[in-house]
Amino acid sequence: MGDGNRRNMNKKKKNRRKKKKKMMNAEETFASKCVWKWANNNGGLLNSSSSSSSSSSGEDEDFNDVQKSLRVAEPVVFELHSHSTRSDGFLSPTALVERAHRSGVKILALTDHDTMAGIPEALEAARKFGIRIIPGVEISTMFSPRGNSGTEEPVHILAYYSSCGPAKFEELEECLVKIRDGRFRRAKDMLLKLNKLKIPIKWEHVARIAGNGVAPGRLHVARALVEAGHVENLRQAFSKYLYDGGPAYAKGNELLVEEAVQLICRTGGVAALAHPWALKNPIPIIRSLKASGLHAMEVYRSDGRLAAFSDLADAYELLKLGGSDFHGRGGHDESELGSVNLPVVAVHEFLTRARPIWCDAIRSILLSFAEEDPNKVSEISKFKSLKGDMTFENTVLNEGGDMFTLHLSSWLSNEERKAVEVEAIRLKLSHTVISERGFHITAVSK
Ligand SMILES: [Zn+2]
Ligand SMILES: [Zn+2]
Repeated sequence: MGDGNRRNMNKKKKNRRKKKKKMMNAEETFASKCVWKWANNNGGLLNSSSSSSSSSSGEDEDFNDVQKSLRVAEPVVFELHSHSTRSDGFLSPTALVERAHRSGVKILALTDHDTMAGIPEALEAARKFGIRIIPGVEISTMFSPRGNSGTEEPVHILAYYSSCGPAKFEELEECLVKIRDGRFRRAKDMLLKLNKLKIPIKWEHVARIAGNGVAPGRLHVARALVEAGHVENLRQAFSKYLYDGGPAYAKGNELLVEEAVQLICRTGGVAALAHPWALKNPIPIIRSLKASGLHAMEVYRSDGRLAAFSDLADAYELLKLGGSDFHGRGGHDESELGSVNLPVVAVHEFLTRARPIWCDAIRSILLSFAEEDPNKVSEISKFKSLKGDMTFENTVLNEGGDMFTLHLSSWLSNEERKAVEVEAIRLKLSHTVISERGFHITAVSK
């Protein structure tokens, strides 16, 4: 496509968007209000000063804020699929968040392959830009058909968690560790196959590209192939050697796809089927996953909505999502962060579905903390530590309950705190006394 053509297309697209804005129907207006409110209710850091006083008139204030914001009507840009150097992306979590900010993204889900290791760094970076992070992960799984329906094939499942992360974090992490171990073995198997094809790629080369401690993936092997001059580009590395079932393809330790979906449901996440258009035989997979509790599937891409998959999502009553699957490769064929135009109604449906799931997860994390060991207050959230949190400086705390409330106000919005009935849990902790000013608390019964 020539530049002129593309410009015309873009103009047309923009005009279409403008027209659409004018014709926003009641459902869209309501959805955009709710989404805006959620996006800007960004935990205590943005509203900590009002967190204790706004409870009585909170609703009205919120509503006025929404009204004000709608006059300046900026759509909230969501990016629900992205990778960092913690898996096979090219940008660190910090650089990814900066790039997202430059691209106008307000809500960013970091969904590295089989790891949530990049989330704390992303959260830290996101504070600077007022971006909200959805902690996520993209799990490598395998579909194994029973009977004659479908063929065995790899499937990627996205998980989206609340700001506190997964409930039963250890259970999830244990599975992810197994998969990551499998990725090391798998990369070695791929190299063996390449070596047999007289392509001498060394393990050290792949490990260096992947980076310290990062579980290698196909993309890392592909980069080694390009760097060593065996292929011209990444695409060729895949189309010649590394595609599913290809001459240098190897299987890892993937979970069964149904088990992954059940695991996500058990740990308080929203489960979404990633890029179903890459599947050879999507229908039996979608059918089986729906029965296992799948919530959503990707149907939107930067080039628009895929009608066939949108119809499938409707048929199986799945939420319709999408994201750029940004890796930061820098090629012309890569979609930019935030380039997927998710309709506000789809985003609203996602948040509506996620809310009770996330609230349940937060409640169970808080309760298990309160019941088991109040001394571990700093571990309530796996992703934020008390230590780095400025909110706590110069604050005299008298009891565990105070500490709990303060701690929560730094990362739960007022709305979330109401929804998870924080007050009841706080009461359970009021017997905990803080021994000295600072972060050290001891459990002393009054
Ligand atoms: Zn994927
Ligand atoms: Zn991905």
